[in-house]
Amino acid sequence: MKKVLMLLIILFITGCTNNNKVATIIKEESSMLIGINYPITNTKLDMKIEKDINKIQSDFKNKYQSPNSNTKAELNIDYNINEFKDYISVVLNVYISSPKIDKNIEYVITYMYDKKNKKILKNNDIIDINNSKYIIKEELLKKYKNIKISTIDALINNSLIGIDPEYINIYFNPTEFNNLISIKIPNNNIKLKINITSEQINKVFNKMEVKSRVIDPNDKVIALTFDDGPSIYTEEIIEYLHENDCNGTFFVLGNKVKIYSDIIKKSISYGNEIGNHSYNHKWLIKLSEKDILDQINKTQNILNSVAGYTPTILRPTYGSTNDIIKNKTNLDVVLWNVDTMDWKYKSVNKIVARATKNLKDGNIILMHDTKYRTLEAIKKIVPILKENNYTCVTISELKEINLIRKIQNEK
Ligand code: ZN
Repeated sequence: MKKVLMLLIILFITGCTNNNKVATIIKEESSMLIGINYPITNTKLDMKIEKDINKIQSDFKNKYQSPNSNTKAELNIDYNINEFKDYISVVLNVYISSPKIDKNIEYVITYMYDKKNKKILKNNDIIDINNSKYIIKEELLKKYKNIKISTIDALINNSLIGIDPEYINIYFNPTEFNNLISIKIPNNNIKLKINITSEQINKVFNKMEVKSRVIDPNDKVIALTFDDGPSIYTEEIIEYLHENDCNGTFFVLGNKVKIYSDIIKKSISYGNEIGNHSYNHKWLIKLSEKDILDQINKTQNILNSVAGYTPTILRPTYGSTNDIIKNKTNLDVVLWNVDTMDWKYKSVNKIVARATKNLKDGNIILMHDTKYRTLEAIKKIVPILKENNYTCVTISELKEINLIRKIQNEK
């Protein structure tokens, strides 16, 4: 007897506009892992940020990668962006670990862009450090009790500023006396030289769209999965899948969810599944338990607040997992059995060939929705799947189908 699987998807759509995008560079080589996300603002700031990132990458390759070691070196760059009516504040967080150094390196780079005058501002243009010294000192000593009083003035003179709608974030990069430290001061407690009025973004929750899909559990199925997104290519991928009655699974990075919230919501409304791929693509197995859970929970929380959606599946970064990842979260770890290597191979035909070479019922195919060539490849892969009578399903659909088949076999 045929059983039919029905899936109901309920979602909330919110309206919100955003012009910023995120660039992603993820590389995995025998001696190093690189995970970089940075904002694209469509201003003069982009050239400066790209130049800095290129410099960090080449320094990292020269100084820290270690071809003869069992452990890979890792470079991770994460970002924070806050856009106001007249200004854009960007903070890059740089993290380096390597078998060549005892202690991980962590520091920040900050940028403040004046949209009206098309100018990158310096610290002095943002706040009058001398006038704010007292409150900065007070906050520093409150938060870091062991700080050496004699080093405070030097620290403050080298401080960096990032601004969000509620706080002035002040960063102090590592010196011989301290690691990277930071304090937050409420906006109205400190006098700024710039006027950061923010435009209110209206968040309207429109209830509720229901989409249903019918899958015969005896059909041949395949799961297309996409990591590291969303990106500027994701929308066209989900539109193409939608036109072809395909659903896929998108393992997203938490630090991109806000900027691409509309695309994520559209993706969910089309019946795609969203999975967790950490917050900023750090190599999870190298982190402490607290930091692993932090990476995962931050992404869960942001998907929940932005899209009312809670993932049930996790794909750990670089496909490497451990007992903490497996046992300390309630997410199922999902890897893959077909790797298209689309992050590495530039040839679309090669990616298509790798995806479709050994088609098998229940396969999970790994791709990345951060590359134009993956979008091109998908437009060739899906027709081949259809010719061979495969239905593209999400990971949760695949699990449910496997369960129904198991029950059928036991009868
Ligand atoms: Zn990844």
